[in-house]
Amino acid sequence: MSRLNDILEFNRGFVQDGEYRKYSTDKFPDKKIAILTCMDTRLTELLPKAMNLRNGDAKIIKTAGGLVAHPFGSVMRSILVAIYQLNAEEVYVIGHHDCGMTGLNPDEVLSKAVKRGISEETLHTLSYSGVDLDRFLTGFENVQDTVKASVKAIRNHPLLPQDIKVYGLVIHPETGQLDLIAEDEDGVQQA
Ligand SMILES: [Zn+2]
Repeated sequence: MSRLNDILEFNRGFVQDGEYRKYSTDKFPDKKIAILTCMDTRLTELLPKAMNLRNGDAKIIKTAGGLVAHPFGSVMRSILVAIYQLNAEEVYVIGHHDCGMTGLNPDEVLSKAVKRGISEETLHTLSYSGVDLDRFLTGFENVQDTVKASVKAIRNHPLLPQDIKVYGLVIHPETGQLDLIAEDEDGVQQA
């Protein structure tokens, strides 16, 4: 409870002292961009600073690996909401080096789950009911290829308007350097 208590105690002071005022904005992204990136802790402040983004500038969608895993999952829905409801005009898919999703191994994750009290029976039940746990918990090997695949999935999505630009980039988790992924035959667009 102590971490929660620390947060709640800090929060009372934050609100009372009016610290929030400098973050005041609205729900529409001022720079009209949506960013899909990783939940990596090194990017929490670094990514917005490295891109000159302030509160209110961009819609930022974060997942493990920063990828579109399913064309009709919550990530793609968030991108579509950013575009249609919140006026985003450009989408940036930003992967990073040294990602925790690199080489993620489903057997390793599931053995940890079993050690943490998830029964083998539960795993069997999920498999029998059609859940592909291997696919669900498999990471990726190459960040560039993964970003390209997500860019392609977004660009080819049947509900994406044609005038939306979709870019693929890779950020360095220490220096914040951004590298644009060049256009290729798969149709990844270059700036
Ligand atoms: Zn990551």
